[in-house]
Amino acid sequence: MANPYPHVYLGDRIVAAEEATVSVASSAVLYGLSVYTVFPVHVAGAAHTAFRLDDHFRRIEESCKIIGIDRFATEWDFDRFYAAVVELIGRNMPTTDVFVRATVHVVESIPGTKVRGCAIRLSMFVYDAVPIVPQDGMRLKSSPWRRIPDNAIPSRAKVNGAYVNSVLAKQDAIDSGYDDCVFLDGNGHVCELSAANIFLVRNDTLITPDVSCDILDGINRRTILTLAAEDGIPVVERTVDLTELYIADEVFVTGTSAGAAPVIEVDGRVVADGRPGPVSQALRKRHSAALRTDTLHGWLTTLA
Ligand code: PMP
Repeated sequence: MANPYPHVYLGDRIVAAEEATVSVASSAVLYGLSVYTVFPVHVAGAAHTAFRLDDHFRRIEESCKIIGIDRFATEWDFDRFYAAVVELIGRNMPTTDVFVRATVHVVESIPGTKVRGCAIRLSMFVYDAVPIVPQDGMRLKSSPWRRIPDNAIPSRAKVNGAYVNSVLAKQDAIDSGYDDCVFLDGNGHVCELSAANIFLVRNDTLITPDVSCDILDGINRRTILTLAAEDGIPVVERTVDLTELYIADEVFVTGTSAGAAPVIEVDGRVVADGRPGPVSQALRKRHSAALRTDTLHGWLTTLA
């Protein structure tokens, strides 16, 4: 089937998808030295809106800063990024909701590993917004692979190379018959999934690992925290033990590609009665509306 989104942004212009290439000798390819984000674009007739685009841009900026990709800050600002997104969507003209993957590649070929001052290129491509995990009740397996700690490859930077850690853990979960993994840190505390944050509900309180638990500071995680607080749900961000997931009243996960998806089983233990719970369901609805029709928070950016 022909690619429905054949126009890709690379460097400073739109090119045909087959021409959007990065050298095999680049540090991006050799060391996984790229940072990225994925953001959703909602399509309603001729109107296109991106969700929390400024936060996604800031996360790219912060990821570059952490890793030392210094030329992003001098070459890119939000206005240039916004114009590039508008051009990308305008050329591809999606008719249903899509995701955009935006990546900053270190394109220089450097003998030895270094990053400062290296040439970069931003790429962006569009694909259908299909969730990467089941939406009606996920089954999770705690992973034998530990989450990479902040003092090795920081989780709060969305670095391509670090995703080998996610691939190992997700593949292990799938091979064992589960939908996804739960990453633990070196002390056995819960971090996140391969590409989503995790929440649990216990005694009517919403609990999630805090941002210094080797997790990505997920944009949908922040969204859920805001929506829950607005709904009067008590929220606690703290260290979470694996066994707390086993006895939770509800568990759910969040992410751009995961949505706000309920979890019905962890390590062979059924969560509560095995059906998505009321808090998860209510927040899932609020989250879905926020992505498409939010007017209160300034989260939607019109792409025109
Ligand atoms: N954790 C990891 C490791 C991820 O890759 C993602 C997906 N970006 C998330 C959490 C969720 O982040 P967000 O809500 O910003 O998509």
